Amino acid sequence: MKISRTTLIFLLIILISGIFLFKNPVSQSRAKDLPQQPLDTNQHSGDPTDESNSTSPVQSKIPHLRNRMQTANLQIFKETVARQALAFPKDYFLEALDYDKEVALTFDDGPDAIFTPQVLDVLKEYNVQATFFLTGTNCKRYPEIVRRIQAEGHAIGSHSYSHPDLRKLAAVAAYKTEILNTQTILEGLIGYQPSFYRPPYGAVTDEQIIYFAQHDLKTINWSIDSFDWDSKQNSVDEITYRILKYIHEGAIILMHSAGVDRSNTVESLPIIIETLREKGYQFKTIPEMLELPQS
Ligand SMILES: [Zn+2]
Repeated sequence: MKISRTTLIFLLIILISGIFLFKNPVSQSRAKDLPQQPLDTNQHSGDPTDESNSTSPVQSKIPHLRNRMQTANLQIFKETVARQALAFPKDYFLEALDYDKEVALTFDDGPDAIFTPQVLDVLKEYNVQATFFLTGTNCKRYPEIVRRIQAEGHAIGSHSYSHPDLRKLAAVAAYKTEILNTQTILEGLIGYQPSFYRPPYGAVTDEQIIYFAQHDLKTINWSIDSFDWDSKQNSVDEITYRILKYIHEGAIILMHSAGVDRSNTVESLPIIIETLREKGYQFKTIPEMLELPQS
């Protein structure tokens, strides 16, 4: 068979482009332009029926709050916490950054005399250890509940003395009036000063994150908001659905054990615990999951 000159040139072009592509595969050259992991990706945080949830990705995680936000203010909050988590990776946490199938339940605003004990009863029944962020004022009112939290193996962190928006205070003033006194109260009750705290409303300035870290206090926020604090959307079904929808490896889940009626939080707990266990998740305290010292 005789090959024409045109065919020969055509074959040569194919061969040369083949060599070029082999040396510079498209996927590799384009990968540089792609984000490592876009925010709000479904890969780890989306619909729990999405099977990609169970894959083991090799990229490192970008910490972020998973909830889709319904108001502009909440969207700003979501962007702020993501920025702070990236800016202060050793001192400020939204989630654990490895891919272990572990999650941390956290309960704010306690203790109280009614709902915190109910939360503790459920956790005890299921042998789950959680983390409680307690205010100084409530610790003074219900010291026996603080001791019970500790006796039952849960971790304890400060949630400020009087639950203000810390951003309205300078770092030194916030430390003196809201943090240090609560650390002292906690030490009197549990024997040590916790190494981590949660700012009320998750709101804290960069200056405060740095200043508190210099005083051996890590800032802990969350990657999943149960919205159990929002009376417009905190039915048992809504709380449960939201947590299961956004669940991911290393999740820190925000819930509340005091303040107002927390019946729905208490009622949703068994469903959340049972379902997450069925999915293979283990429950850890904040210091266990983030590998922080307790004090
Ligand atoms: Zn709070």
